Amino acid sequence: MKDYKKNYLKWETSLKYVKGVGPRLGEIFEKIHVRTVYDFVHRFARTYQDNRRFSSFAELVPEQPCIVQADVIKKKIIPLRARNKKIYEILISDGNQSIPCRFFTMPYKNWFNSLRVGEKVEVRGKVTVFRNHLTFNHPQIFPATSEVIKEEDLILPIYPEVDKVTQYKIRSIMKEIFKSLKDEEEDLEFLPSWLIKQYGLISKFKALKGLHFPNNQRVDEYLNFQTEFQKRLIFDEFFELQMYLALKKQGWKTGEGVSISFEESFFEEIQKKIPFLLTTAQKKVLKDIFKDIQSTHPMHRLLQGDVGCGKTVVALISALICAKAGYQTAFMVPTEILAEQHYKNALSFLEPFGVKVEKLTGKMKPSKKRILRGVLQSGFCQVCIGTHALIQEDIQFYKLALVIIDEQHRFGVHQRALLKSKAFDPHFLVMTATPIPRTLSMAVYGDLDVSVIDEMPSGRSSVETHRVFPKNRKKVFDFVKKEIEKGRQAYVIYPLVEESEKLDLKNARDQYEKLKSYYKTLNWGILTGRMSPEEKQLVMEKFLEKEIQVLVSTTVVEVGVDVSNASVMVIEHAERFGLSQMHQLRGRVGRGSYKSYCFLILGERFSKESSQRAYIMQKTLDGFKIAEKDLEIRGPGEFLGSRQSGLPNFKIANMIRDREILFLAKQSAFDLISQDPRLEKEEHQKIKMKFKELSKKIKPG
Ligand code: ADP
Ligand code: MG
Repeated sequence: MKDYKKNYLKWETSLKYVKGVGPRLGEIFEKIHVRTVYDFVHRFARTYQDNRRFSSFAELVPEQPCIVQADVIKKKIIPLRARNKKIYEILISDGNQSIPCRFFTMPYKNWFNSLRVGEKVEVRGKVTVFRNHLTFNHPQIFPATSEVIKEEDLILPIYPEVDKVTQYKIRSIMKEIFKSLKDEEEDLEFLPSWLIKQYGLISKFKALKGLHFPNNQRVDEYLNFQTEFQKRLIFDEFFELQMYLALKKQGWKTGEGVSISFEESFFEEIQKKIPFLLTTAQKKVLKDIFKDIQSTHPMHRLLQGDVGCGKTVVALISALICAKAGYQTAFMVPTEILAEQHYKNALSFLEPFGVKVEKLTGKMKPSKKRILRGVLQSGFCQVCIGTHALIQEDIQFYKLALVIIDEQHRFGVHQRALLKSKAFDPHFLVMTATPIPRTLSMAVYGDLDVSVIDEMPSGRSSVETHRVFPKNRKKVFDFVKKEIEKGRQAYVIYPLVEESEKLDLKNARDQYEKLKSYYKTLNWGILTGRMSPEEKQLVMEKFLEKEIQVLVSTTVVEVGVDVSNASVMVIEHAERFGLSQMHQLRGRVGRGSYKSYCFLILGERFSKESSQRAYIMQKTLDGFKIAEKDLEIRGPGEFLGSRQSGLPNFKIANMIRDREILFLAKQSAFDLISQDPRLEKEEHQKIKMKFKELSKKIKPG
């Protein structure tokens, strides 16, 4: 009986049956999809609280756990209008500065009441920034003298917050679980033993235990995610992603594609009709593509190349080869402006070869769409350029052989899968101008083969870049005026501004009016995201035809727009832009043979870091270097725009900090799949189970 009580938990036991949880807490966790004991132990500590020493107020870093010693100088109960709620606030001070500690409920009424003004306390938690001030939300507060930190509490895991559950409670549930487990270590392991041995990993169970109950001798290792416990779990997260990619790649390799026949002589003919010579890099990439599309397995190729290197022509030639063989191409782009631009390009390039080109965007009239649907389904049109509408609308192709996706980072990884033809899997060509550092590209695009255009067309001038401090702003615009008088054109870019920020920040619309009235002799135009597609198109056309000389815009011109006469790029509030974004914007100029300039004007209030960013831009034109730096500064999620990137949300892994583990995980996943492509071996059954959904897609082959 006693034994039964002691070991009453299995991994799949419902969390609410754990002693100390119960239905109410169980429900709270249920809401965040934590239902079982297994789920609970897989909520990893976000970080660890280092209890070895006190921090001074001056060294506090937002979102980092800390302990401070301070005096209580005030207690307040602030009523909120909403539903009779109150905020309980304790103001603490170190003698110089004060920080409020806020509680949105009062769990320990007596404690709050007993706390005296003037008392010295110890506050544990993390500070956040609220309206420009540091605040502790729901910290733990102890009388400074009474509690000596227990040896075992020198380092404490800090879990992701959930409702009002305290860290203390989470830790005590964790203790109960590990005390009362009936299930064995082996039940948790899913990796085959050869892999564990080969990569020197520890068991999953040991890893979890070590993660939740840190060893206080090794605080620094924990803080830096260097323990073997953390490493094992980081490995697992990467491994899962890499298995997913490896299985996808495997599925593609065995899928049914259409083989496109291709003759060298036709390629020669095409080259003669292009107004420039293809670069060696472009030719090399085309060779890769030709080889792929001749195969009966679908191509899945990523084409990487810095802005302006000439990816579009590569795409159009590929489409032409398919059209010549009697097949269709869908060309997907992220914005309406880009669709229009590519459409025009495609028309002038492809129609002389007798290829019919159409355009499909979301804002098109339904009647027009209906006609277009028929045209595509009948095979009357061979190349269709469009936005998301290409996958959203119910479009059927007659013989779709090739799908091209431009500026991939704007589309989710999953969307690739949506464009399918009925009879076979089309070939995929995915193009991106975000020079993705190797670490990231293999994590996100590990399922794709990669080609790189690492050479710019000759005759390009480099873009002279300047970081500009606010006081020199006028000089920039005077310079713009001079360039325009020489016949050039310019862009002036503003960040997207929220309504509430309008007072502090310059925005496109207001500045357009101001600049226009100041520099009266110039022709100004404006482009914002709010305008209708027709309006945008009209503005872009006027800019192309030089009717508009300076285009004031939000970041809608960021990707792909190609106006070779434009030679000046002015970015206002440069402090609000990320490196990769500035690089993309800068790529809009320097496309012709004119000397080009990029000015990064900082707003009145810029941080040291943002000024440094502008300086990095001034120093380097190399997109890859910029991307590496950007990744370092912003972290992978934000780097690719988390939701757009299709990157999973890792719980513990970090692609920069843990890049070595990422390499290992990739190697092991791809190894495993090449050894046992259909996961048939006995020792791989657990992995197969884990990837059941995915492995269903592995076609016999
Ligand atoms: P991106 O790779 O950024 O999409 P684009 O395809 O828009 O670049 O090409 C930028 C410009 O370079 C276009 O005006 C295009 O016509 C031109 N271009 C492309 N390839 C060459 C080349 N081999 N020689 C000269 N100009 C080229
Ligand atoms: Mg492009």
